[in-house]
Amino acid sequence: MLTGCARNPENYSLTDTCMGTVCNVSVTGDKDCKDICEEVLTKGEVLEKDYLSRRLSSSEVFKINQSLGNEGEASVSPYIGDIIKRSEKIYMDSDETFDITLGKLISLWNIDELADADMKDIKIPEDNEIELAKADSGFDKIDLKDNTLCAEKGIVLDLGSVGKGLALDEAAKILKKSNDVECAVVSFGGSIYTYGKKKDNERFKVGIVDPFNTSEIFLTLSVEGDTFISTSGTYERFIEYDNKRYHHILDPKTGFPADSGLVSVTVIAKDGYLSDALSTACLVLGKDKGLELADKYGAKVLFIDKDSNIITNPAMDEHLINN
Ligand code: ADP
Ligand code: MG
Repeated sequence: MLTGCARNPENYSLTDTCMGTVCNVSVTGDKDCKDICEEVLTKGEVLEKDYLSRRLSSSEVFKINQSLGNEGEASVSPYIGDIIKRSEKIYMDSDETFDITLGKLISLWNIDELADADMKDIKIPEDNEIELAKADSGFDKIDLKDNTLCAEKGIVLDLGSVGKGLALDEAAKILKKSNDVECAVVSFGGSIYTYGKKKDNERFKVGIVDPFNTSEIFLTLSVEGDTFISTSGTYERFIEYDNKRYHHILDPKTGFPADSGLVSVTVIAKDGYLSDALSTACLVLGKDKGLELADKYGAKVLFIDKDSNIITNPAMDEHLINN
């Protein structure tokens, strides 16, 4: 459902909820930009509904999981096949911490849904349940040949870590093929894409949420057009139980929410998929291995640790402004 389209002389802004988060497209351009805003957000909805969602029965991922559960194999579209292949590479490079086959453990914790639920409905999985779900994951248990995915019983795909980034990749294609847009900012939750040139060549400013007070901005980055920025944080989706906080990014090694010392990870990478995947991966890996992973992919990173320290790699520094 699209809501809140506003029109100024040459600015359009459209806000929607999609992929469990607030999405916005703000465009500066001429008269046709309203349609472009709608196209970008509608594309995000279609991606979720038709391809990526683990929960919606209309999606390809849902059908793949169903078919893997019943027959141990499923046919996959070239689009999803490509995501699986790219994700396998990051799985290998991230010490198996970024894992899109972790669906069983993710649905056992169910933090994305419980984060919106009543306190009384919240339950923490038992250790033995966690062990069992954890055992049903890993790229060693799946095999993709051409358009057929085979998997051991129990494997469930979850593309929640990259959906927003993939939506930005589609947004970028739409904006680039339009002749009417001067500049734009697209956000799907904590994943942002900047496009075009602002007046007087001014840079785009992107605020990073304060992980300790999410209504505030911790610091601001300045970037050029055509930049993909993704932030993953332990504050994004979480539940509280017995005075303990459990967030939505899980460490496949422990089966529990990642406890790497990092509370916020921002990544600038060459496309939306990569920045989204790497931000999730680095949050699990922690500072040292996260920096190594970022280097391997030529990505720029900014980490905030639990003591409020800011850690960046040199490539990120040009984006820090008077913070
Ligand atoms: P957000 O959705 O808040 O932007 P992320 O992009 O970091 O955050 O993705 C978090 C989602 O990724 C979780 O909700 C879950 O669906 C999935 N996920 C959780 N742990 C992992 C992991 N270790 N590897 C890959 N995906 C994960
Ligand atoms: Mg991510």
